[in-house]
Amino acid sequence: MILFKRARDASRYLQKQSDAGKEIGFVPTMGAIHEGHLSLAQASKRNNAFTVCSVFINPTQFNNRSDFERYPVTLEKDIDAVAATGCDALFIPTVAEMYPDNYAAPVYNLGYLETVLEGAYRPGHFQGVCQVVHRLLQIVNPDRLYLGQKDYQQCKVIQRLLQTTNRDHHTEIVISPTLREADGLAMSSRNLRLTPEQRAKAPGIYKALTEAKASIVHKSIADVKATAISRLTADGFAVDYFELVSAETLLLPTEPLERVVALTAASLGGVRLIDNLAL
Ligand code: AMP
Repeated sequence: MILFKRARDASRYLQKQSDAGKEIGFVPTMGAIHEGHLSLAQASKRNNAFTVCSVFINPTQFNNRSDFERYPVTLEKDIDAVAATGCDALFIPTVAEMYPDNYAAPVYNLGYLETVLEGAYRPGHFQGVCQVVHRLLQIVNPDRLYLGQKDYQQCKVIQRLLQTTNRDHHTEIVISPTLREADGLAMSSRNLRLTPEQRAKAPGIYKALTEAKASIVHKSIADVKATAISRLTADGFAVDYFELVSAETLLLPTEPLERVVALTAASLGGVRLIDNLAL
């Protein structure tokens, strides 16, 4: 596996791979690599001659400074894990490499997508996500971009980014299912910050989602939502939201047969976890 620290080196090398007719699959991450990340790399390896991952903790997407400062860093382990999965290259830039002095942060038109759910609770977060993904796409120029369903709204935002930057004809988004621990907890780098007591409670989020799925057939959306929020709160979570929305628009469902997804964000002792389930 080739390790790149400089954008220009990565870009030149990857362009050569493309020129040689290799399709490039790209898996962007913020590190603290777990099986969920590696499942995206494996999906990329199945469909592309060349797979590149990146590890970069993007400061511009953290609306909360202490969340950024406490984000887990396990770079040496990450390099080993990505190499063991058989990735061809790993890009680990510095902040200065990604955002040089002359970098002018664009403002992306994300419409209502950045004002609902995560957008409402994390102002500026999706603009930061778009900045980093846009910059990474310019450097890597992949044929396929691998994203996790775990970050459901992020997938929608990045789809929109590809459209607004006219990349959607060149780069295809491939979304992989959420990998979970045996007890249902969605794998996440932030799980490393949970104390053993919090870790024992954390699967409550998946439980609330599966209960919502089971009860939606005979209960109203408002009832399902209220039950989930009161159960999570009783279990010690600080719930930001638990919403049932259209799987397409992320707005309240308007049609009787619309596909619905339940999305939630809830914290345990300051560690904020998100998850979702198609209903
Ligand atoms: P992150 O490092 O948290 O920014 O995640 C990098 C990528 O991995 C994103 O596309 C995530 O949606 C995806 N991802 C994170 N957790 C999981 C998971 N448990 N299962 C599948 N994909 C995931």
